[in-house]
Amino acid sequence: MRINPATRLFDHFRLAPKSNPQAATLAAELDEIRRQQTLLLTMLDHTQAGVVVHGNDGSVRYINASARKILGLNAEMLPELSKPGWHWWLFDEYGSRLTPEQFPARRVLQTGEALDHLLLAIQPFDAGALRWCDVKAAPVLDLDGEISQVVVTLIDVTAQRRAREALAASESLLRNILDQAPVGICITDASGTLQAINPAYCQLFEYSAAELIGQPMSMVSPLPYRGVMNELYRRFIDSGMEFRGEWEVVTKSGRPRTVLATSARISTLHPPQAVTFVIDISDKKDLENDLIQKAQLLEKRAREDGLTGLFNRQASFEMLDYALERCKRYQETLSVLMLDVDFFKQINDTYGHMTGDKVLTAVAAAIKQSIRTVDIAGRYGGEEFIVILPNIDIEGAAIVAERLRQAIQEIRIEGNEIEASASFGVSSYAENDDTEFLVNRADLALYKSKRNGRNRVTVG
Ligand code: GH3
Ligand code: MG
Ligand code: MG
Repeated sequence: MRINPATRLFDHFRLAPKSNPQAATLAAELDEIRRQQTLLLTMLDHTQAGVVVHGNDGSVRYINASARKILGLNAEMLPELSKPGWHWWLFDEYGSRLTPEQFPARRVLQTGEALDHLLLAIQPFDAGALRWCDVKAAPVLDLDGEISQVVVTLIDVTAQRRAREALAASESLLRNILDQAPVGICITDASGTLQAINPAYCQLFEYSAAELIGQPMSMVSPLPYRGVMNELYRRFIDSGMEFRGEWEVVTKSGRPRTVLATSARISTLHPPQAVTFVIDISDKKDLENDLIQKAQLLEKRAREDGLTGLFNRQASFEMLDYALERCKRYQETLSVLMLDVDFFKQINDTYGHMTGDKVLTAVAAAIKQSIRTVDIAGRYGGEEFIVILPNIDIEGAAIVAERLRQAIQEIRIEGNEIEASASFGVSSYAENDDTEFLVNRADLALYKSKRNGRNRVTVG
């Protein structure tokens, strides 16, 4: 039998001879049948589904346009299909090639049962890529109930399958990235409940995935922070406000950690979800605190006199500038004491430099003990000191100086052998004074104290 798209499925109908008296009626009926046949064939050739009709010997009787396309058949190849043993290659969904007995049409012929939803791959004749088809096969029975034909329909699902494969590949890629990522990643729903997490997230918080999934993200925050975290998360989900911050967290074993969490809203989902990246910055934080402490220490050292712990000369002047500014702005009083240890060179010469240092330390300690916390004491030079007294007028400053003089006089070093004394100059802020004026007046007064016999206070 010749097979082509025009092959008539109803070829067993033959026109009756014209001589028959009922020929006209019969011819009209046959014409109607032929019209319907043409309609049916046209429909079959324009349907998306591939349709192949097999005879009860398994041979191909009809093949529509979609089936020809799926099978990669061109017009010249059509006659070949009727030759015995000629068939195409089919594969099951696991990639195994089907034997001719396993072909859907053969199975229907053998069992008489229809087949539904077989997923099969067809190797097209034009050597194109495998076509995946959802295949159905149904027997057509003749009037005696015998199978006369088998109708096989093919729906090409290659594109869907490719899309599914591509999706699976991208999902697997994403899973791989999540699994390998060195940062903790979690996905939370609109209420902040953990939906998915990666291994780094589990590792960071020391919980298993099962212990975390379904729990609120804030479970790793200490109780007092949870409310704030939940509220910020709610605002972030509602408005897309930035959600990035450092959080103090506690791991399952109770280890406190500092993490930096950055969330991104997945607004394509309704209700929206969020993906959060979590980095453990505890070590960095410790280092940062360490650096801050060191910087503070360095700054303190830069302002401090190493021997006595008082402010050094430069810091003393900065503090005096500041005190003077305040005093001018708020119209307060401000006084300055300058003091110089008497005959210090002799102490050094007699007892050595080290002992001299001890005397200086003792003088500094005596100064510190005799002043208020708001007062500022600095080492101005070798054995010279300055004391800044905010809110103290000249009389008050003279009293402080006198108290200090006595305190220094009581210093005893090296088994009471060494005594010390100091001479003082006192000055107070007068209108239009600058730092230099103020210090110079105190210095002049100090010079007078020296000239007048030392171990005394002179008001400048
Ligand atoms: P006067 O009563 O006139 O002030 O006499 P003085 O000997 O105290 O004054 P002078 O300026 O002659 O001597 C000060 C000495 O202080 C000289 C210097 O070697 C000593 N000196 C300066 N800085 C230090 C220090 O840090 N440690 C010690 N031990 N001595 C110092
Ligand atoms: Mg001196
Ligand atoms: Mg001196």
